[in-house]
Amino acid sequence: MSHVSGRKSEIALAQDLSPVPHDGGRMPTAKHVPMRQCIACRERRPKREMLRIVLTEAGPVLDPTGRKPGRGAYVCPDKPECWVEKKLRRFAGAKAQELSQALQIVLGRVKSQASQVGKPST
Ligand SMILES: [Zn+2]
Repeated sequence: MSHVSGRKSEIALAQDLSPVPHDGGRMPTAKHVPMRQCIACRERRPKREMLRIVLTEAGPVLDPTGRKPGRGAYVCPDKPECWVEKKLRRFAGAKAQELSQALQIVLGRVKSQASQVGKPST
């Protein structure tokens, strides 16, 4: 009996890894991915690759979860040229400089100190 259950999971795994589960003749480009446009470079990329920004009364807020209410926009989190004030002004207006600084602090820090995330602060 135990042999059977072991083999069962092997089969399930094999099915999981099979490249084409069913015939998708009508849709050549796989599944639909929601796209968002960067406010700085205007490049369109999958939503999950973008960082959402929300303009609140208190100022611009970075919204990685994409769930904050308010006027939102997206920028490339991996392109410093998209964090400059000039390019953000279109969206953030007078708050563009503040937003630019927030992006550079938060995104810059994430990259350079990624290995330290999770360490207890002493
Ligand atoms: Zn961009």
